[in-house]
Amino acid sequence: MSSLPEGVLRDHPLARLTTVRTGGSAELFARVGTLEQLQRLLGWAARRGHQVGVVGSGSNLLVADSGVRGLVLKLDEELGKIEITGTRVHCGGGARLPAIAARAAQAGLAGIEFGVSIPGTVGGAVRMNANAYGGDLARVLEWVEVATPAGIERRAPAQLGFSYRRSTIRPGEVVAHAAFALQPDDRATVAARLADLRARRKETQPSGIRTFGSTFKNPEDPRAEGRTAGQLLEAAGCRGLRIGGAGFSAKHANFIENPGRATTADVVAVMAEGRKRVRERFGVVLEPEVQALGPVEFPPDWERS
Ligand SMILES: Cc1cc2nc3c(=O)[nH]c(=O)nc-3n(C[C@H](O)[C@H](O)[C@H](O)COP(=O)(O)OP(=O)(O)OC[C@H]3O[C@@H](n4cnc5c(N)ncnc54)[C@H](O)[C@@H]3O)c2cc1C
Repeated sequence: MSSLPEGVLRDHPLARLTTVRTGGSAELFARVGTLEQLQRLLGWAARRGHQVGVVGSGSNLLVADSGVRGLVLKLDEELGKIEITGTRVHCGGGARLPAIAARAAQAGLAGIEFGVSIPGTVGGAVRMNANAYGGDLARVLEWVEVATPAGIERRAPAQLGFSYRRSTIRPGEVVAHAAFALQPDDRATVAARLADLRARRKETQPSGIRTFGSTFKNPEDPRAEGRTAGQLLEAAGCRGLRIGGAGFSAKHANFIENPGRATTADVVAVMAEGRKRVRERFGVVLEPEVQALGPVEFPPDWERS
């Protein structure tokens, strides 16, 4: 067995690095604390022909039960730091959005309050173009630094191709740093907005469950008649529907929960059943919002619409 670079582990379980807590192990795994270490590992993986995946907070991630080939990275230490200078927040790709929102509020800075509702990292938020309650990542993001085996590249929001839950960050590219340009505001006012957003979340979404948030994107299909994915799933009788160890939440029909021992296959079976019911009832084909890491297997009729 060939030797591995320092810090790289073999066969590392990933379920506990996700919020839904399902799936197998990474063939190779490393926590990366600095940009230098990140560049070294990306170069090594490229030379060895290993695919590279990234786990942020795992809050929008479905890991294959059979595991993930190649190298999976998690950013922390320096690459998880948050620094505020004037009205600019500079942070690592592994910094968590709720922490950034809270730090900005303490500093009397407005614009990133919506981050309090998104339990993910900056890297995951940029990759997914995350937002909530009308907040807009692109409006406050100044630039990101993306690491690839070829080096570090600074990209402006206009170069990130943001659209609904999409960006042009490609698999294998790692968002290592980001800078946000915020607006000065009264501290108490920003703090009150955070409290309001937290309360709104608590009212509408289940808390303390193992989930990856919204399972499907809200459809643009006119047959949905403006209804959200959750409303369509609910109308199709999916609220609380269980298959194996997983099921749609009783509080929010677009959330799948793992009450204890679900596998990714159970989660996929629930997704497939919900998608089938909505397709049969409304002719609308729901597209997953959740991202697969590794060969997550969908049923053969998944693509049929
Ligand atoms: C309870 C709950 C509520 C949620 N509410 C919202 C909401 O209101 N709005 C919303 O938009 N989302 C929401 N989400 C989904 C999720 O939090 C967001 O998509 C978040 O941006 C994902 O970030 P993450 O760090 O957890 O990414 P992960 O789930 O770890 O990864 C998601 C994708 O991003 C990639 N990625 C992660 N880090 C990096 C990086 N540094 N560089 C490059 N690629 C990277 C991964 O490889 C993967 O493809 C919710 C999730 C939960 C569990």
